Parts: sequence; C-alpha cells; structure tokens
Amino acid sequence: MTSSASAELSRLLFDGRYEQTHQDLHELLLDPVFDPREGLDMTEAGKLAYERSRAVHAGLERPREILADPWRLFALAEWPSLVDVSMFSLLMVHYNLAFGTVVEHGDREDLKDLSDELDRLDSFSPYMATELGYGNNVAALRTEAVYDPATETFVLNTPDALAQKHMSYSGFQDVPKLAVVMARLKADGKDHGVYPFLVRISDGKRSCEGVHAAPCPEKPVQGLDNGLTWFDHVRVPRRQLLHGDMGGFDDDGVFRPASGNRRKRFLRAMNRILPGRLCVSSAATGAGRASVYIALRFAAQRLTNAPGRNDLPVIEYRSHQLALYTALSRTYAMTLLLNHAKREFTAAPQDAVPAELNHLVSITKALSTWEMTDVVATCRERCGAQGIFSANRIADYGSLLQGLVTAEGDNQVLLATTAGQIIAQYGAGAGAEPAPAPDPVGRDLGDLAFLVAAVRHREEELLREAASAMADDTGDRTYFEAWNGTVNTGLEMARARGVRTALECFAAAVDTPEDESARTALGLLAALYGLSEVRRDAGWYLARGVLTDRQVELLPREADTLCARLRPYTDALIGGFGLSPELLRAPIAADDYVSAFQQRTGAFGPAAGAVAEGG
Ligand SMILES: Cc1cc2nc3c(=O)[nH]c(=O)nc-3n(C[C@H](O)[C@H](O)[C@H](O)COP(=O)(O)OP(=O)(O)OC[C@H]3O[C@@H](n4cnc5c(N)ncnc54)[C@H](O)[C@@H]3O)c2cc1C
Repeated sequence: MTSSASAELSRLLFDGRYEQTHQDLHELLLDPVFDPREGLDMTEAGKLAYERSRAVHAGLERPREILADPWRLFALAEWPSLVDVSMFSLLMVHYNLAFGTVVEHGDREDLKDLSDELDRLDSFSPYMATELGYGNNVAALRTEAVYDPATETFVLNTPDALAQKHMSYSGFQDVPKLAVVMARLKADGKDHGVYPFLVRISDGKRSCEGVHAAPCPEKPVQGLDNGLTWFDHVRVPRRQLLHGDMGGFDDDGVFRPASGNRRKRFLRAMNRILPGRLCVSSAATGAGRASVYIALRFAAQRLTNAPGRNDLPVIEYRSHQLALYTALSRTYAMTLLLNHAKREFTAAPQDAVPAELNHLVSITKALSTWEMTDVVATCRERCGAQGIFSANRIADYGSLLQGLVTAEGDNQVLLATTAGQIIAQYGAGAGAEPAPAPDPVGRDLGDLAFLVAAVRHREEELLREAASAMADDTGDRTYFEAWNGTVNTGLEMARARGVRTALECFAAAVDTPEDESARTALGLLAALYGLSEVRRDAGWYLARGVLTDRQVELLPREADTLCARLRPYTDALIGGFGLSPELLRAPIAADDYVSAFQQRTGAFGPAAGAVAEGG
C-alpha cells in the first residue's frame, strides 16, 4: 500500500515530472564529491561549493539548454542545496540571474565568445545589482557606465561608498569571474536608466584592472564570497552592453533607448528575477520537505519514556505529531502552490507577463519561504540535540532559508508591493464583491470545503478593508500616510490570498490519486493545513461569525484527531518526496540512526543492539 500511495503522491508533488526532470539530479548528487566534509574553515567550505557546482555543471546538459526548459531550471534550484546549501546561490546566480540575462539581452554573434565561456562555466558569473545603499530600492542604484564615443567603450565607475556593489559573489579573486553588472547608462550627457553590462572582474589569478573587491564579513554556515565591489573607471567595450530590445546604437554611434519609460526598461533588464523567485521557492520547499523527511524518520526511531514504559517512539506523542504533521501539511501545501505558480509561469508569454502572474509569483515566493522557515525551525527543535548538527542537515537548511527570505525581493517588501497593486486594482473596480461569510452552524471543522470558504472570506474582507482605508478621503492625508495606515492589512490580505490559493490547490489534489490510501492521507493533511490556518486567526473568524465559540474551543482537539488519523500514513506521505537516506547522508535519517551516528563520529562504542538491550 505504501509504495503505490507514495508513487501517486510523488506524481502529484513533482507534477508528473520526477523521472524526466528530477531523477538524474538525485542520482548525480550521490557522487562522493557531495559527501559531507568536516573540519573545513569558511573559505575552504566556500571553495568546495565552487568545486561541487562545477561537478553539477559537468554532470548535466549545458546551462543554455537548462534555461530553455524552466522546469529543469527549477529542479536545479531544488536538489543541489539539499547536500550543500551554498550551491544554491552559486548555481542560481550563474545559470538564471547572470547567464539568463546574457541569453535574454545579449544573444548576439558578437558576444558568442563570452556567452560560450559562461555556458562552459570557464568563468562564473556574479550578478551585481544590489549596492550598499540600494537594496530593496535597487532601482535607484548609482553605479554608472558613461559612454565614450572616441574609444567606443563605457567607463564603469562607482561614484561613492553607497554605490559599491554589495553581496554579489566577488570575494574569491582566484576564481575566474565574468559578471553581469547593473549600471546607469549615460550617453550624450543623458541618464538613460539602468542596463546590464558584461564585465570581466577576475581572470582567475587576480582582480582585473580597476576592479576592487573586499569580502563581506563571515556568515554562519555558508562560506561564500559575498563581497563589496567598486569600479574605478573600468573600460568596458561597447559590445558588452546587454541592451536586448531595450535600445541600442544607431549607425551614427548614438545610443537610442527603446521607447517606454525608464521604469519599464529597468524591469525588463531585471526580468530574470521572476523565474528567480520560483527558483528560490523551489529551494525553500525542497529544504522544507527534506527537513520533515529527516525529522519524521528520526521520530519513528527515537525512543523515549512514557507513563509505564521507557521505549516509546517519540512520534507516538500527540505533541510531536501536531508539530511535525502540521509542518508536513505546510510542505505539501507550499509545494502544490508552487507547482501551480510554475505552471502559470511556463504557460504565460515571457515578453508580456500578466500582472496576475507577477502577483502569484511574488506571493508564492514570500509565503513559501516564510512557511518553510517555520517548518525547518520546528523540525530542528523536534530532533533535539541531533537537530543542531550540520551532518543532520536541518540546521544548515535554516541558514539557507534566512537568505531566501531576503534575496531576490525581501519578502516583506515584495508582499507589500503586491498588496498595493492588488488593492489599487480593486479600488479601480477590478474586484468582485465579497461573497457572504460561510455559515458555520453544523459544519465540521475538518470539512475542506468549509475551510476553503472561510479562508477565501478572510482574504476578500481584508481586501475590501484595505481598499476602503486607501480610498478614505475624510482626513487630510498624503499618499504615504494613507499607505502607511493600510500596509499591515495589505500584508495580511496578500498572505491570505496565498493561503487560499494553496488550500484550493490542495483541495483539488485530494481526489486525484487512484490509490485510496493516498486520497485519504491527502484529505486529512489538507484539512490539517486549512485548520491550522483558521486556528492562526481564530479570533478574527470568531469576531466575524465565521466560527462559533464552540468551534473555536474545539479547534485544538480537532487538530489532534486529524494527527492521530494521519499517523498510519506517515511513511506513504514522506515516501512521495523522492528523497533517500543515501542522498541526504544525515545520520538521523538512516534506517539505524545509532549505527549511522557512531560511524559518522568515528566512535567504536557498543553495537546498537547492545544499547537497545541495555535500555
Ligand atoms: C544570501 C544573499 C545573497 C545575495 N546575493 C546577491 C547577489 O548575488 N547579487 C545582488 O545584486 N544582490 C544580492 N543580494 C542582495 C539582495 O538582493 C538584497 O539583500 C535585497 O534586495 C534586500 O535589500 P537589503 O538587504 O539592502 O535590505 P534593505 O533594503 O536594507 O531592507 C532592510 C529592512 O527594511 C525593510 N524595508 C526596506 N524597504 C522597505 C519598504 N519600502 N517598505 C517596508 N519595509 C521596507 C525590509 O523589509 C527589511 O526588513 C543577496 C542577499 C542575500 C541575503
């Protein structure tokens, strides 16, 4: 029963693409180069991540082919970080942000030598957008590239401290680097806005002339070479402007920007950020699933005391189940939400991305990375002391998630921007009137249709409230004051939209497996996800008459009941993740954690059997 249920759940979680898109990545990561290495200092660990990234590149089709198949790009975002979290940044910056920008805006014969160099990974390509003074406000960045018609070169320069490139991977100067640098293009005395430039910053021995880089201070876990970089009048040949359809030089050598405003051109120049956000979510949900997999496998083996006995697997405790099954339900919900967003992304025209798709991708990025941050923290804690070891992976995934929450659009700002756009659309009459609140009387708290209706009602009400707060013209307010009074409601609304979409995807998935046990397990898990969301905002639902006071009192008991019913399906549900102890190499995920842990520590103590008998 378990294997056929797991196979169906795997089909669902990988959208029917496991064999075609994911399996070879799993197999590649079994190579000994990805075996855990202890005792490295931060620089050695960072250098190892570069070496491993080269091994991933060597084992797969070329970056150009991967970019042509977004499903493959998303899979690449998901797997390597499971065995070395630092590889996510290196691979995704190179493949998607940097090389993706070259392919989209610089796919020209006269740049073939440089783009082939990146395709072969002869050089890594850092992506340099953020500046010390310009992060979430990156559109205002100030690195400048001034065109010199006499030499047909751009002069790339950092005007002051705030304009230094921040966080991009420039610290290891002995790794060849050919960067994509976002800079303000100035020609004929005019500022034409931000464009991407391809700039060699290191030849593999030292920094190139006029390029200065200093490593940022150390971060926990990841030894990567995030740096502070500044340019001192670096000459960049004209051909290395990645102008794409955003402008170009005419026959007289005059730069002509494409029509449209600077903001539009900026968004076009940065357009790899959209798939980048789906890559970030892929890594986050991958890490979330691996954490739950490890924690649940350990919880089934780890014995503890209970009234009258001393050998109970800790998973039998309802407290442990509530934490880990809720985490499991969130990983399923976020994976299904992400699959939906990926499908919408791949179906949309890439040159005119609809606003709804932008909203969906931004909400998916923010919600999934936040949810997985919680999931990983919960799993870490539920594994006790074992949870703190890098060898057991979960603590490292926590470090990965911290970066994912901030990079490629800080969650809070991304969600607030999205909320502002949704509210403006609604205010302009684009939204439907909210449906009446669902009547709670006689409704079962595990009833999925009721839970979906409740969450949808909350989203609609928050949207109506936020729009009317913005439209309120009774006081004398600036736009900033109006937005400041609305932003927190807007953030809750955008989050609720993500939760509602995830729950709808979950509800739609419940009946799809042919295997009855898979259907039952999914139904219970979806109800637990919906219930935990309603429980999170129980005060709001009670105040709005969407829950009765008796139902609010019953919420904890209902969650426990769902957990008890989920217990027999644990193996089937995590079996769908396509993971294995051999891939993760986490001692506590092994079939016999005691032997695996002893082996990892090099301890030659009593055999595991003797420990159990002694206990
Ligand atoms: C691991 C990692 C790798 C990175 N790699 C790269 C890279 O390769 N290349 C690159 O160019 N960049 C990179 N970055 C930088 C990243 O893009 C920025 O960190 C991100 O854009 C956020 O900018 P900031 O860190 O300056 O945050 P800030 O803008 O300083 O934000 C600080 C806080 O203020 C809040 N805030 C800011 N503005 C607003 C607002 N308008 N409304 C409400 N709240 C606000 C934010 O939510 C946040 O909590 C990386 C970052 C990380 C963490």
